[in-house]
Amino acid sequence: MTLSGRSRCEWCGSEFAAPGGPGRPARYCRRSHRQRAYEARRLAGERGINPEEVLLSRRTWEALRDALYRLEAASEDVAMDLMAGRPTKAEYVEALAHLSSAVRELQEIAVEPLAIGDD
Ligand SMILES: [Zn+2]
Repeated sequence: MTLSGRSRCEWCGSEFAAPGGPGRPARYCRRSHRQRAYEARRLAGERGINPEEVLLSRRTWEALRDALYRLEAASEDVAMDLMAGRPTKAEYVEALAHLSSAVRELQEIAVEPLAIGDD
């Protein structure tokens, strides 16, 4: 997908400067990501994974699940704290820091599929 001269890597999802010129537009931000995508599609073919499916390692899945749970819990904590009474500015700042910490934890998980179905 091209966004005003920039593309989004089909492997890692980050934006990168799309080189102009003839030929097919670049789909990956770097060669290693093109290679990993190829390997993931190949493994998907071997395992019969369809285009709607992605194969993650158990470790990645558990890390995502746990971080999402902690983000949900942090969100509920913050809502409860801020709904009760009249929160001070310091309490808002503390609540935001609590939420930001849970979001950062989620962002730090390296989500890389082992196999991804080709469409
Ligand atoms: Zn990439």
